[in-house]
Amino acid sequence: MFSYEEIKKIRNQFPIFKNQENNSIYFDNAATTQKPVQVINTIKKYYCNFNSNVNRSVHFLDNFTNNYLELSRKNLKDFINAKSIEEIIFTSGATESINLIAFCISKFINKSDDIIISHSEHHSNIIPWQVLSKKNNANLKVIPVNSEGELNIRVFNKLMTKTTKLIAISHVTNTFGILNPIRKLIKTAHKHNSLVLIDGSQAISHITIDVQNLDCDFYIFSIHKMYGPTGVGILYGKKKVLDKLTPYQYGGGMIEKVTFKKTIFSGLPYKLEAGTPNLAGLIGTNKALNFIGNYSIIKINNYETKLLKYAIKILSNINGIKIYYKNSKLTKILSFNIENIHSFDLGKLLNNYGIAVRTGTHCAHPIMDYLKINGTIRISFAIYNTIEEIDRFYKNLIKCLYLLI
Ligand code: PMP
Repeated sequence: MFSYEEIKKIRNQFPIFKNQENNSIYFDNAATTQKPVQVINTIKKYYCNFNSNVNRSVHFLDNFTNNYLELSRKNLKDFINAKSIEEIIFTSGATESINLIAFCISKFINKSDDIIISHSEHHSNIIPWQVLSKKNNANLKVIPVNSEGELNIRVFNKLMTKTTKLIAISHVTNTFGILNPIRKLIKTAHKHNSLVLIDGSQAISHITIDVQNLDCDFYIFSIHKMYGPTGVGILYGKKKVLDKLTPYQYGGGMIEKVTFKKTIFSGLPYKLEAGTPNLAGLIGTNKALNFIGNYSIIKINNYETKLLKYAIKILSNINGIKIYYKNSKLTKILSFNIENIHSFDLGKLLNNYGIAVRTGTHCAHPIMDYLKINGTIRISFAIYNTIEEIDRFYKNLIKCLYLLI
């Protein structure tokens, strides 16, 4: 477990906390994490000293960029234990990763086939499948959840048939931090020859991911939720599945030969990476991976669990509070409401005290509609948060409640 001194040292690596006035509190880490100075400086250094495009010339700057870019790919491969670098595709974010698969897989989805998602997905993991199902006259089926938001596995088993082509499900839900039993889902899906896409956006910086062990076909995430830059996403796909996909965008960087009659595409991973990638972001990604690697996910997770348990304990004292899921042992999201208070009103007042929380529907209308709520207040932790911040959050929350009730 980290000591107070260690956390202080870690926190000091984040310029934003030094630059903020009034000791503000950042509890919106599920939306995006803050960036350590190593990530920021590397991006600056890249633009100041090495800026160039990749693979398009023979000069020294190009070589630097290309080497660094491929180092990021290798480090990402190791980070999630993929089998080869061909399985790591660079995208602009989790959203693009899902859209890419939905587009590329379209030719395998026929009339009356089924795509299965859950009631608790982020809009990014609903809409691409809804549009694809409509376009191909396929069925979009939804795994129901109980009043806590947990998946109904009995119904899931019934939904699975030989017409199921793909399951797309979050590893951890962004609304309530529920850890879905993805191992079980993947096993069942594979028995029915269905592919499985796991949306790892809310898991990647909290849980050790081993895609070979999970045996999922696709695992996607955004780097900005793991201390890295915005505008970079990862699509992991099993090579044998990615090999069957045709490109979803066409342009430079993904071809062997172009004539007016015909184009021969590159192999993996480049055939799915048309155009100039987010080079600065991908170079910064390396530093984000190093940052996490310095502490280990398990150690980070243990520390964040301590924060979460403490927050649940003290918030549970508040009259009229409803905490949406108290069992999020591995994830760092705490969503709540307080009787007769709108999440926006409370969020706005907390903001006056320099506290950043997320309010509203968290890009997940269906689960909010199902629970008949118009949103929640979501706090979410990262490695640099402290027990002292939770105490201060609690004190200010009580002040806000006096003003609102
Ligand atoms: N899925 C989940 C579960 C998320 O939490 C998010 C981000 N809130 C996304 C997908 C989309 O991520 P991005 O906006 O980085 O593409």
